[in-house]
Amino acid sequence: STNPLLQEVGEPEGILTHVGDTDRPRANATLLSLVRNSELRGIVRTMRDVERTFNSKFNYPWTFFNDVPFTEEFKQKTQAMTKAPCRYELIPKEHWETPAWINKDLVGVSSEILEEDDIMYAKQQSYHQMCRWNSGMFYKHPALKDVRWYWRIEPNTRYYCSIDYDVFRYMEDNDKTYGYVINIYDAPQSIRTLWPTTMEFVAQHPEYVHANNAIQWLTDNDVRPNHNVIANGYSTCHFWSNFEIGDMDFFRSDAYDKYFEYLDHAGGFFYERWGDAPVHSIGLGLFLDKSKIHWFKDIGYLHMPYYNCPASKKCSGCRAGRFTDAGYLNRENCIDNFFKYVHAD
Ligand code: GDP
Ligand code: MN
Repeated sequence: STNPLLQEVGEPEGILTHVGDTDRPRANATLLSLVRNSELRGIVRTMRDVERTFNSKFNYPWTFFNDVPFTEEFKQKTQAMTKAPCRYELIPKEHWETPAWINKDLVGVSSEILEEDDIMYAKQQSYHQMCRWNSGMFYKHPALKDVRWYWRIEPNTRYYCSIDYDVFRYMEDNDKTYGYVINIYDAPQSIRTLWPTTMEFVAQHPEYVHANNAIQWLTDNDVRPNHNVIANGYSTCHFWSNFEIGDMDFFRSDAYDKYFEYLDHAGGFFYERWGDAPVHSIGLGLFLDKSKIHWFKDIGYLHMPYYNCPASKKCSGCRAGRFTDAGYLNRENCIDNFFKYVHAD
């Protein structure tokens, strides 16, 4: 088979830390979750998976973020899921609220157009705020000031495979910056001007573009050319950011953070529906050495409706190689583009 997920996988090469290697310190890392009080059941379910497959062996702290205070019930029921410490952090208003330079009338008009294009959450202001926070604010939160690595975890996602090595140490020891599991196309109507705006920024700051970048993956127009047309030069293929294991030093770099500032002033988080997934992906694809991106093929994962499901004895609960239960959605998978234009590991 040509599906790499159907090739039996063990652990990646270069593993230096296994369960029991207690003489090696843990990485400076946290499990990170932006979540609402109303999603308590969903986050508890996901915590159960993450603790069973990974964190009961490594005990990394959890950090929960919310735009309103967490309830006592939320705190009690999540802390009860783990031996590791949990922190509950409020997002400062100036990180969450729609910036003053955004024109409310224009947001109203734009949201009508997005809705006509069937863009989900077009009129849900908080969704736009969430995308902006995940794009350019999470790594600025004071609670993460001295933290380098994060693993983003969303409520109601599932984890299927036992992970017996320290994924953060793996990243550090192998000089990786960003790890993903799923690569998919975006709705091009939600990001019509993201690529042109990116090109304006790059024209002003050519020095930020890495010599060993992944621009071919970002600009592919062979496979689903309409996406590239509607998105004005961007393939829309991106790392699905509801899972990510990343180095916040990258996001805090001048290249990425100034890029975010530029996008933020351009207004597309509100006038369009720019997602943090394409924004992270374009930033990584342009400003990072592409060899520092890692596919966690051994991490079994579901965020409805897409899986990353390896063929491995360490996994149970998902079907090896399956991308989605809804056949017609297989065309949304663009991981082959990443393999073709960047690399397959
Ligand atoms: P989707 O996956 O794009 O459909 O978006 P989700 O509804 O899953 O939201 C993405 C993440 O942001 C999830 O972890 C949500 O819990 C979180 N989230 C979304 N909106 C809000 C919000 O208004 N407040 C908080 N605290 N979290 C939010
Ligand atoms: Mn989600």
